[in-house]
Amino acid sequence: MARISAYDILNRKRRGESLGDDEIQWFISGFTAGELPDYQMSALLMAIAIQGANAEETTALTRTMLGSGETWQMSRRFDFIADKHSTGGVGDKVSLVLAPWVAACGVKVGMLSGRGLGHTGGTLDKLDSIPRFNARLSRDEFERCVEDAGCVIATSTEGIAPADRRIYALRDVTGTVESIPLITASIMSKKLALGASALILDIKAGSGAFCRDVPTARKLAESLIAAAAGSETRVEALITDMNQPLGRACGNANEVIEAFEVLAGRGPEDLVELTRAQGARILVMSGKFTETEAFATLDETRRSGKALEQGRKWLEAQGADPESVLGGALPSPKEMLPVVADRSGFIAEIDAYAVGMLAIELGCGRRAQDDEIDYAAGISFDRKNGDEVKAGETIARIEVGDRPVDRDSVRSTLAALMPIVDAPPARSPLIHEILKERRP
Ligand code: URA
Repeated sequence: MARISAYDILNRKRRGESLGDDEIQWFISGFTAGELPDYQMSALLMAIAIQGANAEETTALTRTMLGSGETWQMSRRFDFIADKHSTGGVGDKVSLVLAPWVAACGVKVGMLSGRGLGHTGGTLDKLDSIPRFNARLSRDEFERCVEDAGCVIATSTEGIAPADRRIYALRDVTGTVESIPLITASIMSKKLALGASALILDIKAGSGAFCRDVPTARKLAESLIAAAAGSETRVEALITDMNQPLGRACGNANEVIEAFEVLAGRGPEDLVELTRAQGARILVMSGKFTETEAFATLDETRRSGKALEQGRKWLEAQGADPESVLGGALPSPKEMLPVVADRSGFIAEIDAYAVGMLAIELGCGRRAQDDEIDYAAGISFDRKNGDEVKAGETIARIEVGDRPVDRDSVRSTLAALMPIVDAPPARSPLIHEILKERRP
């Protein structure tokens, strides 16, 4: 075989030619080992972002990034263990509800989650708002939590897909985050490293998501599913709406409280519906439930208090006192600034992307890597898309934490993100599609 050269690979990818497995492996492994410089890796990332990559190339990228670190192979450690991933949204606290709720039905869940990216909130940041909650677990501690509490949510360790960490840092500063093959390799290298028996993907589509429309979300879903072919992890995907924040709370501590409201049998309908749909697919994939049984079991565990009890067990297993969540001891806002309807009508839309950016300004997320989060800060919505409002009613509240804010400015910004119109707007479905596993 001719000697592989980075220059030749870059030229060929720039022209839109496809690369061989050995070339991709050579390039990624060379970069991870420090043998290829950042500028050549950045050039390859940009060429892939512009020219795309076919299914074989995407698989080779994923496998090489996966092979750069540890593989935990959880499906060999447990009879059946499920994992879940969301491509990220605003107010998306589904993981916090899903893990204990599914565990309450007798099916184990183990997830490795990350911090917020861009305007989207991260599960890890939300969990960090709970005093003493320990999300930084070794592999042994991760397994012990699954055994003790039936579920665990931890952060990815240094050992999982280190190539992704280095590549993601370059993508972040080279405008190459939004590329389906690169997103696929990044997500699936980490998911396959955990190696759950089944993975449910929540691919968000809409103003608050990386994928702005359903066809793009479908392409990403299909690419993610294809990258898992031949692995021990079975994958299904839901394409779901992110044209407004999910649930009523956006922030960190307030989202944890909302998640436990759902476990307690209350909580906003959209959050319940979405978590229930994902939970049902996991239960069906476990092979222990038909779809009808899955929904009935989920409903029963929530009604009977078993789901909430499982939530307590989970918090304890990860070092937290459940009373800090259930007894109101999480960081709480110093002040609530109501946003009031200036006329009667219907909420036309809530721009989820802009809400995410406003939440960052309030302190819920980071502008720079080392920024501190204000866990008490947030936004809560009294009204959502399509809801009727009367002039003078409160439609949302800004929850001010420790960070000083310009009160008038944040209130008027949020009011402008919730325009009120005369006629009710068409409502988009919460779940657009479910890509179920096609078994031979
Ligand atoms: N999440 C990831 O882990 N990687 C991406 O590329 C995008 C979202």
